[in-house]
Amino acid sequence: MKSSLGIPVIFIFFSICIYSCQEKEIRTAPINPEILESAFAQYKEPSIDNRRFGYQLIAPLIAKRNALFETRVLGKSIEGRPIHSLSFGEGERKVLLWSQMHGNESTATMALFDLFNFLEGSGEDGFESIRQAIRENLRLRFIPMLNPDGAEKFKRRNAQQIDINRDAVRQSSPEGIILKRARDDFEPDFGFNLHDQNRYYNVEGSSLPATISFLAPAYNEAREVNNVRSKAMKVIVGMNRLLQQLVPGQVGKYDDSFEPRAFGDNIQKWGTSTILIESGAYPGDPEKQYIRQLNFMILLDALYGIATENYLKYTEEQYIAIPENDSKLMDLLIRNVETVAGDNSYPTDIGIKSSERYLDSLIVMNGNIVDWGDLSVYHGYQEIDARGMVLEKGKIWTEIIPMEKLTQERALDLLREGYLAAATNKASQKQIHQLPIVVFTEGNEPDLNIALDKSPLFYLTKDGEKKIAIVNGQVVKIDRGEDFSFFRLVQ
Ligand SMILES: [Zn+2]
Repeated sequence: MKSSLGIPVIFIFFSICIYSCQEKEIRTAPINPEILESAFAQYKEPSIDNRRFGYQLIAPLIAKRNALFETRVLGKSIEGRPIHSLSFGEGERKVLLWSQMHGNESTATMALFDLFNFLEGSGEDGFESIRQAIRENLRLRFIPMLNPDGAEKFKRRNAQQIDINRDAVRQSSPEGIILKRARDDFEPDFGFNLHDQNRYYNVEGSSLPATISFLAPAYNEAREVNNVRSKAMKVIVGMNRLLQQLVPGQVGKYDDSFEPRAFGDNIQKWGTSTILIESGAYPGDPEKQYIRQLNFMILLDALYGIATENYLKYTEEQYIAIPENDSKLMDLLIRNVETVAGDNSYPTDIGIKSSERYLDSLIVMNGNIVDWGDLSVYHGYQEIDARGMVLEKGKIWTEIIPMEKLTQERALDLLREGYLAAATNKASQKQIHQLPIVVFTEGNEPDLNIALDKSPLFYLTKDGEKKIAIVNGQVVKIDRGEDFSFFRLVQ
């Protein structure tokens, strides 16, 4: 009798253990990247397709949320645009996510609307277990587009010219007051501070851009690690683990110097485990749509990690091991070009960065020579090995050519003859063109001196023959006449 009773008892005990251990393993395993990719493909918000948008675009996307979301207006910006919060979930752990406190940093905002679509998704799409874990364990509160006035002009600061991220303590901006009040009212366990960084950040010791950078900000000058900050570090390790599978070597970590005026540092200090995510650049993705996808994937992965407490398996040491950010990237780096200065001739490197201006849906590029000399520690998105080539000035064609007669062919002929710029009539002003030369109207003649802080406008020659023209920072290969699909303005 003893043995016949013993077997089923042991069996039942074993089956409970196997069942619950399996259950636990399923619930605590990170979501695999293919699942996150397919969730993004299915739930991407189709009305956002570029990174310059204002409140008008997101207002209907907030209004259309279903009953799973509770939407509130937290207040208004200086110019009277509403700032909303959207809440989701019934769990114990509270997470606050805010995006675009800098108006021209919209990548995460796009991803948040993708995430809202996902969270509202139908239970039959195969993702319900993820959604359920989040809904049952977390209470999420999102503030997308904290700085709608800045977003309207695609500028960093608010309408008072205040950098909201230096207004956590002084509280001079309505946007800063709204964010602080949202944190104080909600008292979140976790905070996600969502930004974009410029494309010149690379991962230290590498030519790869920092496509995503992280920071668990310090809460004091001594940069101590308490339990609050430690949790933020561990969540970051989880996101980094995912990103290394998608964009290997392209994740950086910010320096953790304490900034007493910043929101991240203060929210960490106020007891919320705070995570800074900065979206950088990915080659060939000027509208940051792939980086938007990466944001969606890491945010969903992190929320699931917090819901299941899966993140607790990571360590502070793994966070410390993430390489630092560096800022050693340039748009174009010309290496070892022979340069004549008086009787001297010497090889030099020339570093060029281009600013972007937006005209409707077009990005207009404007280059600048930012450095000169030994730039061997820098990297370029585009690099030219100009060893054996000589730096040469161009000429200006001053006889007016009407814009309609300035065809690609004509411009290329001028370029081959040594003219880097041509005059056109006043009526052409503000016209956008794709010509491989500079076009200017009366009084706006470009300076063809090749010098620091000037527009990069010169030739690279080999054995006296013009090989490459650098036109406002863009590379034109003269014999092929290609590579000038960029936009510029008549100046
Ligand atoms: Zn920012």
